[in-house]
Amino acid sequence: MKFKWMPVIDADKCTGCNLCVEACGPQCLELIEGIAALPRPDECGSEEHCIGVCRDDAIHMQWVPFEGNESVGRWGSVSLASNGRRPGTDAQARTPEKPPALAPALTE
Ligand code: SF4
Ligand code: SF4
Repeated sequence: MKFKWMPVIDADKCTGCNLCVEACGPQCLELIEGIAALPRPDECGSEEHCIGVCRDDAIHMQWVPFEGNESVGRWGSVSLASNGRRPGTDAQARTPEKPPALAPALTE
């Protein structure tokens, strides 16, 4: 399975300030029901401009299981389960895909 380095939003912390949406050049983030979401993950360039602007620690980058355009953004593959955090398992975290059964170990 392929993984892409993308932002994940903690819906419990997000205040809907829109700063991350404004910081995203490709416009792949938007507010949905007042909470940031990533409805266009294929266009995410993985360059993390959205992360630094959040004043509420509500968005972070994570390897997310994803199938899409591999010419855009940073991609990795899974070689084995690790003891790292499982993608998408934060409380009410918003990810573009369902979380995987195993946490990824990057093999670049
Ligand atoms: S910058 Fe942070 S708090 Fe503001 S909308 Fe984005 S994730 Fe939510
Ligand atoms: S990593 Fe870059 S392209 Fe992806 S959502 Fe954040 S600002 Fe947008």
